Amino acid sequence: MKKIEDQEKEPDLMEKLVALCKRRGFIFQSSEIYGGITSCWDYGPLGVEMKKNIKDFWWKSMTQDRDDIEGVDASIIMHPKVWETSGHVESFTDPLVDCKNCKQRFRADEIKDNRCPECGGELTSIRQFNLMFKTHIGPVEDDASVVYLRPETAQGIYVNFLNVLGPSRRKIPFGIAQIGKAFRNEITTGNFIFRSREFEQMEMQYFVNPEEDDKWIDYWKEERMRWYLSLSIKKENLIIHQHEKKELAFYAKIAYDIEYNFPFGWKEIEGIHNRTDFDLSRHSQATKKDLSYFDEATKEKFIPYIIETSAGVDRTLLVCLIDGYYEEEVKGEKRAVLGLDPKIAPIKAGVFPLVKRDNMPEVSKKIEKILRPHFKVFYDEGGAIGRRYRRQDEIGTPFGITVDSQTFEDDTVTLRERDSMEQDRVKIDDLRQELVRRIWE
Ligand code: ATP
Repeated sequence: MKKIEDQEKEPDLMEKLVALCKRRGFIFQSSEIYGGITSCWDYGPLGVEMKKNIKDFWWKSMTQDRDDIEGVDASIIMHPKVWETSGHVESFTDPLVDCKNCKQRFRADEIKDNRCPECGGELTSIRQFNLMFKTHIGPVEDDASVVYLRPETAQGIYVNFLNVLGPSRRKIPFGIAQIGKAFRNEITTGNFIFRSREFEQMEMQYFVNPEEDDKWIDYWKEERMRWYLSLSIKKENLIIHQHEKKELAFYAKIAYDIEYNFPFGWKEIEGIHNRTDFDLSRHSQATKKDLSYFDEATKEKFIPYIIETSAGVDRTLLVCLIDGYYEEEVKGEKRAVLGLDPKIAPIKAGVFPLVKRDNMPEVSKKIEKILRPHFKVFYDEGGAIGRRYRRQDEIGTPFGITVDSQTFEDDTVTLRERDSMEQDRVKIDDLRQELVRRIWE
Protein backbone atom coordinates (compact mmCIF):
# COMPACT_ATOMS: atom_id res chain seq x y z
CA MET A 1 0.00 0.00 0.00
CA LYS A 2 1.60 3.28 -1.11
CA LYS A 3 0.53 6.58 0.43
CA ILE A 4 0.80 9.73 -1.67
CA GLU A 5 -0.14 12.26 0.95
CA ASP A 6 2.87 14.55 0.94
CA GLN A 7 1.51 17.87 -0.23
CA GLU A 8 4.78 18.88 -1.86
CA LYS A 9 4.36 15.97 -4.25
CA GLU A 10 0.82 17.11 -5.02
CA PRO A 11 1.10 20.41 -6.86
CA ASP A 12 -2.43 19.98 -8.18
CA LEU A 13 -4.00 19.21 -4.80
CA MET A 14 -6.08 22.39 -4.79
CA GLU A 15 -7.49 21.69 -8.26
CA LYS A 16 -8.35 18.16 -7.22
CA LEU A 17 -10.15 19.36 -4.11
CA VAL A 18 -12.07 22.09 -5.94
CA ALA A 19 -13.20 19.48 -8.50
CA LEU A 20 -14.12 16.98 -5.78
CA CYS A 21 -16.08 19.63 -3.86
CA LYS A 22 -18.11 20.44 -6.96
CA ARG A 23 -18.60 16.85 -8.15
CA ARG A 24 -19.69 15.50 -4.76
CA GLY A 25 -21.73 18.48 -3.62
CA PHE A 26 -19.56 20.21 -1.02
CA ILE A 27 -18.98 23.68 -2.50
CA PHE A 28 -20.10 25.50 -5.66
CA GLN A 29 -19.37 28.91 -7.05
CA SER A 30 -22.14 31.35 -6.11
CA SER A 31 -24.66 32.08 -8.92
CA GLU A 32 -22.82 29.60 -11.12
CA ILE A 33 -25.46 29.46 -13.86
CA TYR A 34 -24.97 33.21 -14.33
CA GLY A 35 -21.24 32.73 -14.74
CA GLY A 36 -20.49 33.01 -11.02
CA ILE A 37 -19.51 35.97 -8.86
CA THR A 38 -15.93 36.31 -7.70
CA SER A 39 -15.06 34.99 -4.29
CA CYS A 40 -18.57 34.14 -3.14
CA TRP A 41 -19.30 30.45 -2.54
CA ASP A 42 -22.31 28.23 -1.92
CA TYR A 43 -22.14 25.16 0.28
CA GLY A 44 -23.96 22.13 -1.12
CA PRO A 45 -25.53 19.16 0.69
CA LEU A 46 -22.27 17.70 2.04
CA GLY A 47 -20.52 21.05 2.53
CA VAL A 48 -23.31 22.45 4.65
CA GLU A 49 -23.26 19.37 6.91
CA MET A 50 -19.51 19.58 7.35
CA LYS A 51 -19.62 23.30 8.03
CA LYS A 52 -22.36 22.82 10.59
CA ASN A 53 -20.37 20.07 12.30
CA ILE A 54 -17.32 22.36 12.58
CA LYS A 55 -19.43 25.16 14.05
CA ASP A 56 -21.19 22.78 16.44
CA PHE A 57 -17.85 21.38 17.62
CA TRP A 58 -16.46 24.87 18.23
CA TRP A 59 -19.65 26.01 19.96
CA LYS A 60 -19.68 22.94 22.19
CA SER A 61 -16.03 23.32 23.12
CA MET A 62 -16.60 26.99 24.02
CA THR A 63 -20.03 27.08 25.65
CA GLN A 64 -20.79 23.55 26.85
CA ASP A 65 -17.56 21.76 27.72
CA ARG A 66 -16.48 24.67 29.92
CA ASP A 67 -18.32 26.83 32.41
CA ASP A 68 -17.00 30.34 31.75
CA ILE A 69 -18.32 31.31 28.31
CA GLU A 70 -21.76 32.53 27.23
CA GLY A 71 -23.04 32.80 23.67
CA VAL A 72 -24.69 35.61 21.69
CA ASP A 73 -26.01 36.03 18.18
CA ALA A 74 -25.86 39.72 17.33
CA SER A 75 -27.31 41.49 14.31
CA ILE A 76 -25.13 41.78 11.19
CA ILE A 77 -26.23 45.38 10.65
CA MET A 78 -25.29 47.54 13.62
CA HIS A 79 -25.50 51.22 14.43
CA PRO A 80 -23.03 52.93 12.04
CA LYS A 81 -21.42 54.77 14.97
CA VAL A 82 -20.14 51.39 16.22
CA TRP A 83 -17.76 51.29 13.24
CA GLU A 84 -16.65 54.87 13.76
CA THR A 85 -15.85 54.17 17.39
CA SER A 86 -14.07 50.90 16.63
CA GLY A 87 -11.82 52.65 14.11
CA HIS A 88 -13.08 50.65 11.12
CA VAL A 89 -14.49 53.62 9.19
CA GLU A 90 -11.16 55.37 9.39
CA SER A 91 -8.65 52.58 9.21
CA PHE A 92 -10.09 49.22 8.17
CA THR A 93 -8.31 49.68 4.87
CA ASP A 94 -5.89 47.89 2.60
CA PRO A 95 -3.38 49.71 0.41
CA LEU A 96 -4.50 49.46 -3.21
CA VAL A 97 -2.59 49.91 -6.50
CA ASP A 98 -3.82 49.66 -10.12
CA CYS A 99 -1.82 48.55 -13.11
CA LYS A 100 -1.82 51.38 -15.65
CA ASN A 101 -1.42 48.85 -18.45
CA CYS A 102 -3.73 45.85 -17.76
CA LYS A 103 -5.97 47.69 -15.23
CA GLN A 104 -5.83 44.89 -12.66
CA ARG A 105 -5.89 45.77 -8.96
CA PHE A 106 -3.55 44.51 -6.27
CA ARG A 107 -2.85 44.92 -2.59
CA ALA A 108 0.27 47.08 -2.44
CA ASP A 109 1.69 45.00 0.42
CA GLU A 110 1.67 41.93 -1.85
CA ILE A 111 3.66 43.57 -4.67
CA LYS A 112 7.36 42.74 -4.88
CA ASP A 113 9.31 45.05 -7.24
CA ASN A 114 6.82 47.86 -7.79
CA ARG A 115 5.68 46.41 -11.15
CA CYS A 116 2.43 44.66 -12.06
CA PRO A 117 2.77 40.95 -11.18
CA GLU A 118 0.60 40.00 -14.19
CA CYS A 119 2.07 42.06 -17.07
CA GLY A 120 5.03 43.94 -15.58
CA GLY A 121 3.26 47.27 -16.24
CA GLU A 122 3.63 50.48 -14.26
CA LEU A 123 1.53 50.83 -11.11
CA THR A 124 -0.42 53.80 -9.78
CA SER A 125 0.53 55.29 -6.43
CA ILE A 126 -1.00 53.70 -3.34
CA ARG A 127 -4.56 54.54 -2.27
CA GLN A 128 -6.22 53.34 0.93
CA PHE A 129 -9.31 51.28 0.23
CA ASN A 130 -11.91 50.64 2.96
CA LEU A 131 -12.94 46.99 3.07
CA MET A 132 -16.39 47.49 4.58
CA PHE A 133 -19.47 46.94 2.41
CA LYS A 134 -21.85 49.87 2.63
CA THR A 135 -25.59 49.83 2.17
CA HIS A 136 -28.57 51.96 3.25
CA ILE A 137 -31.16 51.36 5.88
CA GLY A 138 -34.73 52.41 5.09
CA PRO A 139 -36.12 53.72 1.81
CA VAL A 140 -33.97 56.83 1.36
CA GLU A 141 -30.44 56.42 0.05
CA ASP A 142 -28.67 59.38 1.61
CA ASP A 143 -25.64 59.85 3.86
CA ALA A 144 -27.79 59.69 6.98
CA SER A 145 -28.97 56.19 6.15
CA VAL A 146 -25.56 54.56 5.51
CA VAL A 147 -24.98 51.30 7.36
CA TYR A 148 -22.29 48.64 7.02
CA LEU A 149 -22.27 44.89 6.76
CA ARG A 150 -20.12 43.90 9.72
CA PRO A 151 -16.50 43.08 8.79
CA GLU A 152 -16.04 41.10 12.04
CA THR A 153 -18.43 39.67 14.60
CA ALA A 154 -16.46 40.99 17.58
CA GLN A 155 -18.14 44.39 17.86
CA GLY A 156 -21.52 42.69 18.39
CA ILE A 157 -19.99 41.15 21.51
CA TYR A 158 -18.42 44.34 22.89
CA VAL A 159 -21.60 46.38 22.63
CA ASN A 160 -23.46 43.60 24.49
CA PHE A 161 -20.94 43.33 27.32
CA LEU A 162 -23.32 44.73 29.96
CA ASN A 163 -26.34 42.91 28.52
CA VAL A 164 -24.60 39.58 29.00
CA LEU A 165 -22.82 40.41 32.26
CA GLY A 166 -26.06 41.29 34.07
CA PRO A 167 -28.36 38.33 33.33
CA SER A 168 -25.58 35.72 33.35
CA ARG A 169 -24.21 37.02 36.69
CA ARG A 170 -20.72 36.22 35.47
CA LYS A 171 -17.55 37.19 37.25
CA ILE A 172 -14.34 38.06 35.47
CA PRO A 173 -12.66 36.19 33.86
CA PHE A 174 -15.39 35.06 31.52
CA GLY A 175 -15.99 35.00 27.77
CA ILE A 176 -18.66 35.65 25.16
CA ALA A 177 -18.75 33.53 22.00
CA GLN A 178 -20.39 34.16 18.67
CA ILE A 179 -20.56 32.49 15.27
CA GLY A 180 -21.73 34.47 12.29
CA LYS A 181 -21.23 35.95 8.87
CA ALA A 182 -18.76 38.74 8.21
CA PHE A 183 -18.18 40.67 5.00
CA ARG A 184 -15.04 42.25 3.59
CA ASN A 185 -14.66 43.80 0.18
CA GLU A 186 -11.24 42.18 -0.24
CA ILE A 187 -9.03 43.58 -3.02
CA THR A 188 -7.42 40.29 -3.87
CA THR A 189 -9.31 37.07 -3.34
CA GLY A 190 -8.69 33.53 -4.44
CA ASN A 191 -7.36 30.20 -3.29
CA PHE A 192 -10.89 28.80 -3.29
CA ILE A 193 -12.69 29.57 -0.01
CA PHE A 194 -9.52 30.80 1.74
CA ARG A 195 -10.23 34.46 1.15
CA SER A 196 -13.77 35.35 0.19
CA ARG A 197 -15.88 38.47 0.48
CA GLU A 198 -18.56 36.82 2.57
CA PHE A 199 -17.42 34.33 5.19
CA GLU A 200 -18.16 33.08 8.66
CA GLN A 201 -16.24 33.68 11.85
CA MET A 202 -16.17 31.87 15.18
CA GLU A 203 -15.08 34.48 17.68
CA MET A 204 -14.70 34.44 21.43
CA GLN A 205 -13.88 37.50 23.52
CA TYR A 206 -12.51 36.74 26.98
CA PHE A 207 -12.78 39.54 29.55
CA VAL A 208 -9.95 39.58 32.09
CA ASN A 209 -8.39 41.65 34.84
CA PRO A 210 -5.74 43.86 33.12
CA GLU A 211 -3.14 42.45 35.45
CA GLU A 212 -3.75 38.92 34.21
CA ASP A 213 -3.73 39.55 30.45
CA ASP A 214 -0.37 37.84 29.73
CA LYS A 215 -1.46 34.71 31.55
CA TRP A 216 -4.72 34.50 29.62
CA ILE A 217 -3.31 35.08 26.16
CA ASP A 218 -0.81 32.28 26.77
CA TYR A 219 -3.64 30.09 27.95
CA TRP A 220 -5.84 30.75 24.90
CA LYS A 221 -2.98 30.31 22.47
CA GLU A 222 -2.41 26.78 23.79
CA GLU A 223 -6.10 26.01 24.07
CA ARG A 224 -6.87 27.00 20.48
CA MET A 225 -3.95 25.00 19.14
CA ARG A 226 -5.29 21.99 21.04
CA TRP A 227 -8.67 22.51 19.36
CA TYR A 228 -7.18 22.15 15.86
CA LEU A 229 -5.27 19.06 16.96
CA SER A 230 -8.51 17.59 18.30
CA LEU A 231 -9.88 18.00 14.76
CA SER A 232 -7.07 15.59 13.74
CA ILE A 233 -5.13 18.28 11.86
CA LYS A 234 -1.51 17.13 11.55
CA LYS A 235 0.70 18.83 14.12
CA GLU A 236 3.54 19.46 11.66
CA ASN A 237 1.17 21.52 9.49
CA LEU A 238 0.35 24.02 12.25
CA ILE A 239 2.49 26.76 13.75
CA ILE A 240 1.99 29.76 15.98
CA HIS A 241 3.37 32.98 14.58
CA GLN A 242 3.84 35.89 16.95
CA HIS A 243 3.29 39.32 15.40
CA GLU A 244 6.28 41.60 15.40
CA LYS A 245 5.77 45.14 16.62
CA LYS A 246 5.28 46.49 13.07
CA GLU A 247 2.60 43.86 12.27
CA LEU A 248 0.52 44.61 15.37
CA ALA A 249 -2.84 46.35 14.99
CA PHE A 250 -2.67 49.75 16.69
CA TYR A 251 -4.86 48.63 19.61
CA ALA A 252 -3.18 45.27 20.22
CA LYS A 253 -0.59 44.62 22.88
CA ILE A 254 0.37 41.18 21.67
CA ALA A 255 -0.97 38.99 18.87
CA TYR A 256 -0.49 35.46 17.62
CA ASP A 257 -1.68 33.80 14.44
CA ILE A 258 -2.26 30.09 14.18
CA GLU A 259 -1.01 29.30 10.70
CA TYR A 260 -1.50 26.27 8.48
CA ASN A 261 0.82 24.89 5.84
CA PHE A 262 -1.46 25.41 2.80
CA PRO A 263 -0.30 24.26 -0.67
CA PHE A 264 0.01 28.01 -1.36
CA GLY A 265 2.14 28.72 1.73
CA TRP A 266 1.85 29.18 5.50
CA LYS A 267 -1.26 31.31 6.12
CA GLU A 268 -3.35 32.47 9.04
CA ILE A 269 -6.38 30.46 10.10
CA GLU A 270 -6.99 32.11 13.47
CA GLY A 271 -5.89 35.24 15.27
CA ILE A 272 -5.42 35.41 19.04
CA HIS A 273 -5.09 38.99 20.20
CA ASN A 274 -4.72 40.95 23.39
CA ARG A 275 -6.94 43.92 22.49
CA THR A 276 -6.37 45.55 25.89
CA ASP A 277 -9.18 47.83 27.11
CA PHE A 278 -9.26 49.58 23.73
CA ASP A 279 -12.71 48.45 22.58
CA LEU A 280 -14.63 48.82 25.83
CA SER A 281 -12.96 52.18 26.60
CA ARG A 282 -13.80 53.56 23.18
CA HIS A 283 -17.42 52.37 23.31
CA SER A 284 -17.70 53.73 26.82
CA GLN A 285 -16.41 57.16 25.75
CA ALA A 286 -18.66 57.28 22.68
CA THR A 287 -21.86 56.24 24.46
CA LYS A 288 -21.17 57.72 27.92
CA LYS A 289 -22.08 54.30 29.36
CA ASP A 290 -19.92 52.92 32.12
CA LEU A 291 -18.46 49.68 30.75
CA SER A 292 -16.17 49.08 33.69
CA TYR A 293 -16.35 46.12 36.00
CA PHE A 294 -16.39 46.12 39.79
CA ASP A 295 -14.61 43.20 41.39
CA GLU A 296 -16.45 42.42 44.66
CA ALA A 297 -13.60 40.37 46.05
CA THR A 298 -10.83 42.94 45.62
CA LYS A 299 -13.05 46.06 45.53
CA GLU A 300 -11.25 47.09 42.36
CA LYS A 301 -12.95 48.84 39.47
CA PHE A 302 -11.46 48.48 36.00
CA ILE A 303 -12.22 48.26 32.32
CA PRO A 304 -11.54 44.62 31.47
CA TYR A 305 -8.86 43.69 28.98
CA ILE A 306 -10.03 41.49 26.13
CA ILE A 307 -8.30 38.40 24.83
CA GLU A 308 -9.83 37.55 21.48
CA THR A 309 -9.77 34.25 19.61
CA SER A 310 -10.94 34.80 16.05
CA ALA A 311 -11.24 31.81 13.72
CA GLY A 312 -12.68 31.42 10.23
CA VAL A 313 -15.25 28.68 9.63
CA ASP A 314 -14.47 28.48 5.91
CA ARG A 315 -10.71 28.43 6.45
CA THR A 316 -11.05 25.68 9.05
CA LEU A 317 -13.15 23.67 6.61
CA LEU A 318 -10.55 24.16 3.87
CA VAL A 319 -7.79 23.07 6.25
CA CYS A 320 -9.73 19.90 7.09
CA LEU A 321 -10.15 19.10 3.38
CA ILE A 322 -6.49 19.72 2.54
CA ASP A 323 -5.09 18.00 5.59
CA GLY A 324 -7.36 15.00 5.25
CA TYR A 325 -7.15 14.25 1.53
CA TYR A 326 -4.89 11.46 0.32
CA GLU A 327 -4.68 8.91 -2.42
CA GLU A 328 -3.24 5.43 -2.20
CA GLU A 329 -2.95 2.30 -4.24
CA VAL A 330 -4.90 -0.70 -3.05
CA LYS A 331 -4.46 -3.90 -5.03
CA GLY A 332 -3.36 -1.92 -8.07
CA GLU A 333 -6.27 0.49 -7.92
CA LYS A 334 -6.27 4.13 -6.84
CA ARG A 335 -8.26 4.94 -3.72
CA ALA A 336 -9.02 8.61 -2.91
CA VAL A 337 -9.80 9.27 0.75
CA LEU A 338 -10.98 12.35 2.58
CA GLY A 339 -9.52 11.47 5.95
CA LEU A 340 -11.80 13.77 7.96
CA ASP A 341 -12.08 13.51 11.70
CA PRO A 342 -15.32 11.53 12.27
CA LYS A 343 -16.72 14.39 14.39
CA ILE A 344 -16.94 16.69 11.38
CA ALA A 345 -17.54 14.17 8.56
CA PRO A 346 -20.79 15.08 6.75
CA ILE A 347 -22.02 11.49 6.78
CA LYS A 348 -21.06 9.24 9.67
CA ALA A 349 -21.81 5.83 8.18
CA GLY A 350 -22.83 4.15 4.95
CA VAL A 351 -25.26 1.25 5.31
CA PHE A 352 -24.99 -1.43 2.64
CA PRO A 353 -26.52 -4.80 1.81
CA LEU A 354 -23.69 -6.95 0.45
CA VAL A 355 -25.97 -7.99 -2.41
CA LYS A 356 -29.36 -6.78 -3.51
CA ARG A 357 -31.24 -9.96 -2.60
CA ASP A 358 -31.69 -12.63 0.12
CA ASN A 359 -33.44 -10.15 2.43
CA MET A 360 -30.22 -8.13 2.85
CA PRO A 361 -31.72 -4.79 1.62
CA GLU A 362 -34.64 -5.12 4.08
CA VAL A 363 -32.37 -5.77 7.07
CA SER A 364 -30.03 -2.95 5.99
CA LYS A 365 -32.94 -0.54 5.81
CA LYS A 366 -33.98 -1.55 9.33
CA ILE A 367 -30.49 -0.74 10.55
CA GLU A 368 -30.57 2.57 8.71
CA LYS A 369 -33.84 3.38 10.48
CA ILE A 370 -32.38 2.52 13.90
CA LEU A 371 -29.33 4.75 13.34
CA ARG A 372 -30.90 7.69 11.51
CA PRO A 373 -32.21 9.62 14.56
CA HIS A 374 -28.69 9.61 16.01
CA PHE A 375 -26.36 9.96 13.02
CA LYS A 376 -26.41 11.21 9.47
CA VAL A 377 -26.29 7.89 7.58
CA PHE A 378 -26.53 6.98 3.92
CA TYR A 379 -28.13 3.85 2.48
CA ASP A 380 -26.71 2.54 -0.78
CA GLU A 381 -27.52 -0.74 -2.52
CA GLY A 382 -26.31 0.02 -6.07
CA GLY A 383 -23.18 -1.55 -7.62
CA ALA A 384 -20.29 -3.63 -6.32
CA ILE A 385 -19.59 -3.25 -2.60
CA GLY A 386 -16.01 -2.10 -3.30
CA ARG A 387 -17.29 0.79 -5.41
CA ARG A 388 -19.82 1.76 -2.76
CA TYR A 389 -17.04 1.89 -0.16
CA ARG A 390 -14.87 4.02 -2.46
CA ARG A 391 -17.64 6.53 -3.02
CA GLN A 392 -17.96 7.03 0.74
CA ASP A 393 -14.16 7.13 1.26
CA GLU A 394 -13.92 10.05 -1.13
CA ILE A 395 -16.40 12.16 0.87
CA GLY A 396 -14.89 11.26 4.23
CA THR A 397 -17.54 8.87 5.61
CA PRO A 398 -15.65 7.20 8.45
CA PHE A 399 -17.64 3.96 8.72
CA GLY A 400 -19.30 1.39 6.48
CA ILE A 401 -21.86 -1.06 7.82
CA THR A 402 -22.49 -4.13 5.68
CA VAL A 403 -25.18 -6.76 6.01
CA ASP A 404 -24.08 -10.16 4.68
CA SER A 405 -25.11 -13.80 5.02
CA GLN A 406 -23.53 -14.11 8.47
CA THR A 407 -25.92 -11.41 9.69
CA PHE A 408 -28.71 -13.98 9.49
CA GLU A 409 -26.76 -16.44 11.63
CA ASP A 410 -25.57 -14.26 14.52
CA ASP A 411 -27.16 -10.78 14.18
CA THR A 412 -23.82 -9.14 13.41
CA VAL A 413 -22.72 -6.84 10.60
CA THR A 414 -19.28 -5.81 9.40
CA LEU A 415 -18.14 -2.39 10.57
CA ARG A 416 -15.48 -1.10 8.17
CA GLU A 417 -13.19 1.74 9.15
CA ARG A 418 -12.37 4.18 6.33
CA ASP A 419 -8.63 4.75 6.82
CA SER A 420 -7.39 1.30 7.85
CA MET A 421 -10.15 -0.49 5.89
CA GLU A 422 -10.22 -2.95 8.80
CA GLN A 423 -13.48 -4.76 9.34
CA ASP A 424 -14.88 -5.88 12.69
CA ARG A 425 -18.04 -7.81 13.35
CA VAL A 426 -20.42 -5.93 15.60
CA LYS A 427 -23.83 -7.00 16.96
CA ILE A 428 -26.65 -4.94 15.45
CA ASP A 429 -27.80 -4.07 18.98
CA ASP A 430 -24.36 -2.65 19.83
CA LEU A 431 -23.93 -0.61 16.64
CA ARG A 432 -25.25 2.67 17.97
CA GLN A 433 -23.03 2.62 21.05
CA GLU A 434 -20.01 1.51 19.05
CA LEU A 435 -20.45 4.40 16.60
CA VAL A 436 -20.86 6.92 19.44
CA ARG A 437 -17.63 5.63 20.97
CA ARG A 438 -15.68 5.76 17.72
CA ILE A 439 -16.98 9.18 16.63
CA TRP A 440 -17.04 11.23 19.81
CA GLU A 441 -15.06 9.50 22.52
P1 ATP B 1 -5.81 37.93 6.47
O1 ATP B 1 -4.54 38.69 6.84
O2 ATP B 1 -5.57 36.53 5.98
O3 ATP B 1 -6.74 38.72 5.62
P2 ATP B 1 -6.90 38.94 8.86
O4 ATP B 1 -5.69 39.14 9.74
O5 ATP B 1 -7.50 40.09 8.17
O6 ATP B 1 -6.60 37.76 7.82
P3 ATP B 1 -8.68 38.63 11.05
O7 ATP B 1 -9.23 39.98 10.90
O8 ATP B 1 -7.76 38.34 12.20
O9 ATP B 1 -8.00 38.16 9.68
O10 ATP B 1 -9.91 37.61 11.04
C1 ATP B 1 -9.92 36.44 11.83
C2 ATP B 1 -10.15 35.20 10.99
O11 ATP B 1 -11.27 35.37 10.11
C3 ATP B 1 -8.99 34.84 10.07
O12 ATP B 1 -7.99 34.13 10.77
C4 ATP B 1 -9.68 33.99 9.04
O13 ATP B 1 -9.83 32.66 9.50
C5 ATP B 1 -11.04 34.63 8.92
N1 ATP B 1 -11.07 35.54 7.76
C6 ATP B 1 -10.70 36.83 7.71
N2 ATP B 1 -10.88 37.34 6.48
C7 ATP B 1 -11.37 36.34 5.72
C8 ATP B 1 -11.77 36.23 4.36
N3 ATP B 1 -11.72 37.27 3.52
N4 ATP B 1 -12.24 35.04 3.91
C9 ATP B 1 -12.32 33.98 4.74
N5 ATP B 1 -11.97 34.02 6.03
C10 ATP B 1 -11.49 35.17 6.53
